[in-house]
Amino acid sequence: MSEYIGHLINGEIHSDKSQTQAVYNPATGAVCANVCMASQETVAMAISSAKQAYPAWRNTPPAMRAQVMYRFKQRLEENQDIICELISREHGKVLSDAKGELARGIENVEFACGIPELLKGEHSRNVGRDIDAWSELQPLGVVAGITPFNFPAMVPLWMWPSAIMCGNTFVLKPSERDPSCVLYIAKLAEEAGLPKGVLNVIHGGADVVNQLIDDDTIQAVSFVGSTPIAETIYKRASEKGKRCQALGGAKNHAVIMPDADLDNVANALMGAAYGSCGQRCMAISVAVAIGDKVADALIDKLKPQVEALKVGPGSDDRNEMGPLITSAQRDKVSQFVAQAIEQGAEVIVDGRELVIAGHESGFFIGGTLFDKVTPDMDIYQQEVFGPVLVVVRVDSLEEAVALINRHEYGNGTCIFTRDGQASRYFSDQVMVGMVGINVPLPVPVSYHSFGGWKRSLFGDLHAYGPDSVRFYTRRKAISQRWPSGEVKDGTLFSFPSL
Ligand code: NAD
Repeated sequence: MSEYIGHLINGEIHSDKSQTQAVYNPATGAVCANVCMASQETVAMAISSAKQAYPAWRNTPPAMRAQVMYRFKQRLEENQDIICELISREHGKVLSDAKGELARGIENVEFACGIPELLKGEHSRNVGRDIDAWSELQPLGVVAGITPFNFPAMVPLWMWPSAIMCGNTFVLKPSERDPSCVLYIAKLAEEAGLPKGVLNVIHGGADVVNQLIDDDTIQAVSFVGSTPIAETIYKRASEKGKRCQALGGAKNHAVIMPDADLDNVANALMGAAYGSCGQRCMAISVAVAIGDKVADALIDKLKPQVEALKVGPGSDDRNEMGPLITSAQRDKVSQFVAQAIEQGAEVIVDGRELVIAGHESGFFIGGTLFDKVTPDMDIYQQEVFGPVLVVVRVDSLEEAVALINRHEYGNGTCIFTRDGQASRYFSDQVMVGMVGINVPLPVPVSYHSFGGWKRSLFGDLHAYGPDSVRFYTRRKAISQRWPSGEVKDGTLFSFPSL
């Protein structure tokens, strides 16, 4: 690993060191590399590289683009151990979790291999005499993607494989907090035969993102990150007349019905709330218990499991949960916990004092569990993005659905029940984009698109899957006439019709 993490522009690593930022190993708290933050000139170079690569790539037959993708998928699989080590080192998640993330990313590459099928368009012969008509899906041009820290391999793979399979070229700006695996993966794509300039990777913060949005060459912007930034980016891109999809934050509720198998529920909630240290946009952070009996029994089952969570560096696969991404995030989560206690929530397990022997400077915090949280509390209203699960007590399923529907976020949710009627009512009425029925993390597979409702997504189309082809292409309708023999029609002033 080089000391400086550079940009990938036109197939070359470009290290502009005018401004750099430390990248930490969250398990040790030590700086493991420095990432170059792109200057205006560097951003312009990346856009220009994508622009130059576009005409040839657009005209490359889709089946040949797919050949690159097949080889790329193979390279990802062959190098998964290296990729997962890079993820774990800079993000902190345990290696088995990193493998899960990468596998879901590879699924998106598999989907992208089949995109030629979805680019076929529609054709009608003889829509009028001697006239054939068809519509085709054309690429947009140069498009940009901005991704968050929490899935450094998977979320970029949601975007650029589909985008380039549709014939676009791409400028990717990954999170500056864990940029190494993205760069490594981009190099694997080049080894698989991706022409230089089709995928460019640049690092940076708000300035770089704004420059990408504002540049006239960039035709569309995909963003995944926190809601305030998603909203700002969506607005800025829309004002520029650009297509944009901006996926934001979440507060995902799990509803536990009285007929649910509580042992299964507790196991499912442990993984969904504390996996990846709660740093998933689909993490369950609220358990809505229907009735006090369910809530009491659930707390009894969860408490010993939260206390027994194996927390430690992600490089040791015996651990179930790694650290948070930064010390600032650890402090923020601690403040949420303190505030919830002040506001009257009952703390069942408090993870704030956890110290990992040998990793005292790591950004660790223990699993935390609250009971009797109410909707007016900050810990209920806001996305904490840490290993904190809160139990909210309600009296009925209708009350649970109304509670969820009042929340500003609508990313994911789930219900645990044996009752088909209840689950049908729930999935029909709940104002959330992704619903699980006895499935705690209902992240759609790659051939179904991913997206939340309300303030969890700004834009019309969801990410990856079939919606990604709609997002990354523009439809064109063409009518064609090749009259046989002499043209005999006179001038037609009326609107053409049959
Ligand atoms: P973030 O919003 O801080 O950063 C996301 C990206 O935006 C990064 O590349 C960052 O460099 C860039 N950025 C930061 N500040 C910016 C600014 N002022 N203007 C423009 N760009 C800026 O998010 P994060 O902390 O990296 O990731 C966690 C967040 O992402 C959580 O809110 C989580 O719910 C959300 N997320 C959502 C989904 C989803 O699919 N809905 C998926 C993963 C993560």
